Amino acid sequence: MKVSSLLCIAGIGALACVHVRHAGPEFQPGRVSTTWYAGGKSCAGAPQVRVQAYNADFFILRQAACTNYEKPFLYLIFGHHRALLFDTGAGGVDVATPIDTLMRASLDLVVAHSHAHGDHIAGDTQFVQRPHITVVGRDTASVRAFFGIRQWPTDTGTIDLGDRVIDVLAIPGHQPASIALYDRRTGVMLTGDTFYPGRLYVRDTAAYARSISRLAEFTRRHTITHMLGAHVEQSQTAFKDYPVGTVDQPEEHGLDLTPAQLYQLDSAVQSMRGHFVRTPLRDVTIWPQP
Ligand SMILES: [Zn+2]
Ligand SMILES: [Zn+2]
Repeated sequence: MKVSSLLCIAGIGALACVHVRHAGPEFQPGRVSTTWYAGGKSCAGAPQVRVQAYNADFFILRQAACTNYEKPFLYLIFGHHRALLFDTGAGGVDVATPIDTLMRASLDLVVAHSHAHGDHIAGDTQFVQRPHITVVGRDTASVRAFFGIRQWPTDTGTIDLGDRVIDVLAIPGHQPASIALYDRRTGVMLTGDTFYPGRLYVRDTAAYARSISRLAEFTRRHTITHMLGAHVEQSQTAFKDYPVGTVDQPEEHGLDLTPAQLYQLDSAVQSMRGHFVRTPLRDVTIWPQP
């Protein structure tokens, strides 16, 4: 969508031009909780999946720390005809019950994944072979075919949930089948393990650099309200992440990131010119993996 245009006014013998920034599109409003504390080792008392309504048609879920130290985030988005569940968690927890509770009787459910790592697909078994539920395959070919991405990874695919179109961007690098979603109704972008406040594990550095670049380019051309990933591993202290495997993170960073933080990541990544080194930025940590 167009967010700015050039306005030119003819004065006395001169033409003055300025970029005018238009008000953002009319997004359906919502709220991201500022704290997502997932508890400690004990499962006593707290629900094993925490659910927050971003608004009536968009839900953010987080697996409790006591069930898996990865404590991933899941997202459930409703259109008029079907709903989309983005990731199914790290296993060891009942995710089907909270999703079934939120589902509306007349709607089908599509289960897709930010990428194919085990901590985002382990709950699939709770959804496969159930009526009115489609579980999208996890390999690149299946993801590409399902979302109609013609040229992987440079083209953008879409899914229409019924009066709600979501753009699907292929962003390999962390994992070959990684995707990001852009919900045109709320302006929320979901970025999986590719961009979140934590350790950004990079397996394929060249693919990751290109994906971050494309993601940054997309956010320059669209209005983004929130960028939400699949984990939180940074602490509230700038440049500092919790040690790998930490269960209890009482002072963790918020979930929400912004395009400005993505641009910072993009410039750090591009400056490495393919030779990635572990680099803490203020809100994320670049973490190349052999
Ligand atoms: Zn991953
Ligand atoms: Zn993960």
